[in-house]
Amino acid sequence: MTQTTPVRTPAPRAVDVPFHRASIDEDDIAAVVAVLRSGWLTTGPQARAFENAFAAELGGGVTALAVNSCTSAMHLALEAAGVGAGHLVLTTPYTFTATAEVIRYLGADPVFADVDPRTGNLTERSVRRAYEQLPRADRGRVRALLPVHFAGLPCDLTALSALASAHGWHLVDDAAHALPASHAGLPVGRWGSATAFSFYATKTLCTGEGGMVVSSDEELLRRMRVMRLHGIDRDAFDRYATHDAWRYSVVAPGFKYNLPDLAAALGVTQLRRVRELRAKRAALAESYDALVAGIAGLTAPARPAGPDEHAWHLYALQVDDGPAVRDQLVRELAAVGIGTSVHFIPLHLQPYYRDAYRLCPQDLPGATGLFRRELSLPLFPDMTGEQLQHVATSLPPALQRARQAVRR
Ligand SMILES: *Cc1c(COP(=O)(O)O)cnc(C)c1O
Repeated sequence: MTQTTPVRTPAPRAVDVPFHRASIDEDDIAAVVAVLRSGWLTTGPQARAFENAFAAELGGGVTALAVNSCTSAMHLALEAAGVGAGHLVLTTPYTFTATAEVIRYLGADPVFADVDPRTGNLTERSVRRAYEQLPRADRGRVRALLPVHFAGLPCDLTALSALASAHGWHLVDDAAHALPASHAGLPVGRWGSATAFSFYATKTLCTGEGGMVVSSDEELLRRMRVMRLHGIDRDAFDRYATHDAWRYSVVAPGFKYNLPDLAAALGVTQLRRVRELRAKRAALAESYDALVAGIAGLTAPARPAGPDEHAWHLYALQVDDGPAVRDQLVRELAAVGIGTSVHFIPLHLQPYYRDAYRLCPQDLPGATGLFRRELSLPLFPDMTGEQLQHVATSLPPALQRARQAVRR
């Protein structure tokens, strides 16, 4: 066969560094295969085992309910907390849209408080300010505070939980990035009325899709159990205890948020390694800190205060030159085989939230400023020394090229 069009082969690259790659080992694979062989694929013994192990990982004293996503977990928690039409929920703009969309699912409205541009997290001061800027008549409509632990760095939960209880708000935290993480010696998951975790493909524990909602509030737990699976109340059913396995009571128009055993089995095996995987990411973050400290124009991510433990879901550095150089740096790194990302495009800049709540960039300067500089480097447990070295040697010249390209 003759080749009519010349094929240009790209120059061979020493090493590619994807932005993320899930850490899947032989135990994970065997666990999923065992579920396939067992004949029970949907929610069953593996989901129960995952819930028990997860609650134990948080040190006990909480109950964990497995669900099919963190989005479902937050929706269930807010619904159980009584958030509904006409209510307000204080939250962060510096997040993925899931955090605020669940507020809208319930007919309530988000009130965005600004973030500390150094950490990407809400602070007690910013939440207080957002609350005090509400018209007096609207303040009584606030039902909950929904912070995110950005990149895995815990918020000041001491201050936020005190503020929430002083006002009678539920604290529901979005811990999609924060497994495992702790504040003041207590794991994230033990602070709020409820905490939501994500096991999406890119998160620190992955089941493909999946989530967990954790609480110690029996009233919330009762409602979330019912709403998680079609509003079916097993306890109500038990009151008419019969031996008929087919009988059930529907007490509310619930949701379809259960986690199948196929995914839960992966959760059980991944959870056994959750600390080991965190230690590997933390070691990579240390190496990145040393690298970034030697490059003028890059700022390393904030370190946790005192004894707090960072989950290191993301290594979120800042490009001091601003958005034009940052955007070009993303392209320069991609050209040498290094995947990066930008977290997040804040919600007040997204068309829906911008238009629905008439927000402009200056309304939330901390979030807008951080977004203009943020760059997330590859960070995953199985990243090799060779891959780390490739990032280390590529980053300084890529930044130089990005600056030159922007100046031209
Ligand atoms: C990934 C993510 C979510 C959504 O998690 P799902 O499990 O995909 O629903 C929510 N909040 C934040 C901050 C996230 O990064």
